[in-house]
This record gives sequence, C-alpha cells and structure tokens, in this order.
Amino acid sequence: MRSGRHFLQIPGPSNVPDRVLRATDMPTIDHRGPTFMEMTKDITKDLKKIFKTANDVVIYPASGTGAWEAAMVNTLSPGDKVIMFETGMFAALWQSLAENLGLSAELLPGDWRGPADLNAIEDRLKADSNHEIKAVCITHNETATGALSDVHGVRKVMDSVGHPALLFVDAVSALGSVDLRHDEWGIDVTIAGSQKGLMLPPGLSFNAISNKALAAHKEAKIPKAYWNWTPMLTQLKDGSFPYTPATNLLYGLREAMNMLFEEGLDNVFARHQRYGEATRRAVQAWGLENQCLDPAGFSPVLTAVRVPEGHDANELRAVILKNFDMSLGTGLGKVAGDVFRIGHLGDLSELSLSGALCGVEMGLGLAGLPHQKGGVQQALAYLSETSDS
Ligand code: PLP
Repeated sequence: MRSGRHFLQIPGPSNVPDRVLRATDMPTIDHRGPTFMEMTKDITKDLKKIFKTANDVVIYPASGTGAWEAAMVNTLSPGDKVIMFETGMFAALWQSLAENLGLSAELLPGDWRGPADLNAIEDRLKADSNHEIKAVCITHNETATGALSDVHGVRKVMDSVGHPALLFVDAVSALGSVDLRHDEWGIDVTIAGSQKGLMLPPGLSFNAISNKALAAHKEAKIPKAYWNWTPMLTQLKDGSFPYTPATNLLYGLREAMNMLFEEGLDNVFARHQRYGEATRRAVQAWGLENQCLDPAGFSPVLTAVRVPEGHDANELRAVILKNFDMSLGTGLGKVAGDVFRIGHLGDLSELSLSGALCGVEMGLGLAGLPHQKGGVQQALAYLSETSDS
C-alpha cells in the first residue's frame, strides 16, 4: 500500500482527469442506436475544432501506430517513395512501419538533438525533380527527444519548391498540447492518439484528412480493410462506424473535449509552454543537459534530460519510482540509459509539476548523480512570476 497518488510523469499516456474517468464509467450502449449516433455526430463536429479542419476526422479503436498505418495504406501504392526526417525514435519507427508496408521510406539523417531540419528537407525535395516522393512525413513533437518541429515551415518549403507530395504529420504527442492547424498549414493527413494531450486512456487514434489526401485515396493501391477510410467516412455521416467502436472511450473523448474548450485551446497551449519553460529552468539549474539543443524546438510536452557520462538514467528512474512513487519516461533507442524524460502534458497543475520536479531533484541526490541543487527553486520562481494574479 502506498499512500497518496502515483505521479505519472511519462510523456504519455498522461494523467486521465477524474471528469474523464467518470464519463467513461457509464453503461455501454447500442452503437447502432439513436443515442450513440447523436453522440458521435456531436463528437465529430467538435473534433474538427481540435484539429482545426473543416473535413471529417476518422476515429479508430486503435493506438497511434494504427493511425500511422491508416494514413499510409489509404493514400499510397506499393513501392511509393516517402521521406521522414530523423528527429528521433518515433520518426525511425514510422520509417520502419512504412518499409513493412512495401513503401520505399527514406530517413533524412538527424542527430536526435533538435527538430526537423527544413533546409535538409528543401534540398531533398529540390533534388527530386521527377517528383518521385509521394509523401513528406514529419513528427510534430518527437516524444523520444522533446523536439517540436515547425510543421507550417515544412508546408512553406514544399510550396516554395513546388513539390506536390502529400504532407503527413504525426501529432500523436502534440495534439491537444500544442497548436496544430490542419487546414491552414496545408497538412494532408494528421495522425493523432487519445492518450497524451487529449487526456484519455490509450485506445483511440485519429486521421484528419485533406481533400488532396481524399483524392489520393481513390488511386491508392496498398491493400486495406480495417483502416479503409471509405466505409468510415460514409458511416460517420450518420454517426455510426463500420465496426464496433470503443464506446466508453468516446464518452471520455466527449468530456475531454469539453474540458479543453472550457479552459480554451489557446490557454491550454500557453500552459504547456509555461510548464516546459519551468522544467527547463530546473534542468539548467541542476546543471544537466537538455537532449534538445535548439531553443526553437524546445517541446512544451516533455523535456528529455541527459544524465552525466558514466551514469544510468534508468537507475535514477528506478530510485525515483521506489522512493517517491513517480514514473518518468525511459530513454528510447540510441539514447536508452542516457536520457530520462519528464512529461509535462495534459491534466497537470502548477503544484503537480512542482511536485514532480521535487521528486527528480530528491532522486538526483539519492541516486548520487552529480548535479547542483536549486532547480526546483528556479521552477517555482518562474511559475510564480508568470502566474495570473
Ligand atoms: N508517434 C509518436 C510521436 C508517439 O509519441 C507515439 C507513442 O508514444 C507513437 C507515434 C506511437 O503511438 P502508439 O504507441 O499509441 O501506437
């Protein structure tokens, strides 16, 4: 028995607010009945506001990986060339998923220390004079490294070189925490999940789809069944799904969107920025290094912190879990053991964030990691200076 609440400070799944938990705790109803169909119509109307699109958003009972796959099988044909920029582990996983689907997926090399390099993307697109590249794939918020890429900037680059590829954006760990404008930024498919900024349990994922992506869908030849947009979009019009939806997660989605609208999306984004800045001030005062080196790409969702050479980030995480009942994100892929990640997303107050930072500072001491004290003080000072009153 541990008293108090577990601190879940991984960069998703994020804490599920009580209001959302209560909303899911309702009888499952007939998903072909009138009550459910009215609820779905209401949800899809409001989802458009979250993605900032005039088009319908497809909802899958799946994790984010499913929505990655859905974006590709619905718009591309075997052998098509796609490019990703290697911001970190999730960009690399996306490439390997694309290869497994029979696409030719090229990873533009990155050092995992910052956002997608727009110059590298521009050079690659310019070199593609025959327009063999069918899609540019960008991870909006790289959850492995805490780097936020300039999606609108990528669209501007594509337009400036006159490249007709589709623009796919993985917003799995960005949506609901960071501004994303599907229509205005000319995104063709936005991929998202329920378990991060949307504050839901894992289990729903989304594709927001442009008219250009819909046109590509008509020609796409990769076999598809479960992920097929056509029956999804047809049935969504009357509020139903081609197969059994995750009814109780949809109740939760209704409530989570209510919460986001009550706070105001811009306030939600500003809150995430502020928590990111407070966390980075703590990290700097501890004398530790942010995995993301480019201030223009600092993530409002998480901060990936490097431990000093010769130390193991996972030992620190274990000490913090054992002593303070707090989960921090592990380092992924080639930064495993070198990095721990502090999630500052979703349903989080100033005091919860401060508590989390206290846990890290105490853990650094207990684990014997070389650091300076006073990070929490720096974060508290920033949070009080920038509070409303
Ligand atoms: N893309 C990003 C940026 C992610 O952070 C994740 C999961 O953390 C995924 C894709 C994969 O999503 P899932 O684990 O829900 O399948």
